Amino acid sequence: MSIIQVENLVKRYNGVEAVRGVSFDVREGEVFGFLGPNGAGKTTTISILCTLLNFDSGVASVNGFDCRKEANKVRSSIGLVFQEVTLDNDLTAYENLKFHCYMYNMEKKLAEKRIDEILSVVGLNDRRGDLVKKFSGGMKRRLEIARGLLHRPKVLFLDEPTLGLDPQTRSHVWEFIKNLKKTEGNTVFMTTHYMDEAEACDRIAIIDNGRIIACARPDELKRAIKGDTIYIKTANDEKARLEIDEKFSLKAKKTDAGLSLLVDAGEKFIPRLFERLTVEILSVNLKKPSLEDVFINLTGREIREYGPPPQRMRG
Ligand code: ATP
Repeated sequence: MSIIQVENLVKRYNGVEAVRGVSFDVREGEVFGFLGPNGAGKTTTISILCTLLNFDSGVASVNGFDCRKEANKVRSSIGLVFQEVTLDNDLTAYENLKFHCYMYNMEKKLAEKRIDEILSVVGLNDRRGDLVKKFSGGMKRRLEIARGLLHRPKVLFLDEPTLGLDPQTRSHVWEFIKNLKKTEGNTVFMTTHYMDEAEACDRIAIIDNGRIIACARPDELKRAIKGDTIYIKTANDEKARLEIDEKFSLKAKKTDAGLSLLVDAGEKFIPRLFERLTVEILSVNLKKPSLEDVFINLTGREIREYGPPPQRMRG
């Protein structure tokens, strides 16, 4: 069953199309990732779904509520964690959560029960009385996610949840997001430009230049790239290149470190290479297709070729 439905969504900023007719749906209980380079339209789309931004045409609904006509119902059924830290540094973790419950008009006893539960979920129960300014980046992010979950939203929206965090903290936050599905049964919609995060989603939509260029499970997208890359270094690369052409009818490319060639099933091909090449092989590396390769295949560019994030004003 679809919990988010988007059809032909268009958003223009001063006449410039940032989102150009995007359509997709998110199923209940899945972790759905929106992957794309800076400026692709990820934040714009997530802001529309969270009813923070108007759109020009198309249809968007969350939890069965229309994002334009039933914005209040959408808002009360979602949790939201944006890129910027929005916690109050001079309040404790507990006070930050309490304030959120107050804003959501939650009854006092229920609020306290939920705060207790959620602090355990994010592993911050023993730090509940500490001022947020003493927290690390990862702890703050976990607290923000906890706050986003307090009113038991069916869908949790996360915009670049691990942006700016160190690798270890990123992996902790990510583990926690994956667990949410098991512990809280949430649907998670997140944006990212990190390939490894996108790999861990149940399904991803790849967005580029305001358009969705692919939407499927990460393994399905990678399977569409036919071929593994084998990197080899030999005692005589030029001779090896000629032998590969002659014996396997394959064109190996010269690289800085040796040769590379595209084959169907790399693990089966490597033993044959050892068997038939007369040149001594010094090293072999097998690379399965990655989401980066999927992106290159679809757009002809690398995601990381893009420059730093563009300056943005919200609204
Ligand atoms: P990032 O990873 O940098 O957050 P993104 O994929 O989220 O990028 P968006 O922020 O949605 O991309 O931006 C999509 C396009 O719309 C970009 O070209 C951006 O410059 C433009 N844009 C975004 N917000 C505004 C705004 N408030 N006014 C004008 N243009 C905007």
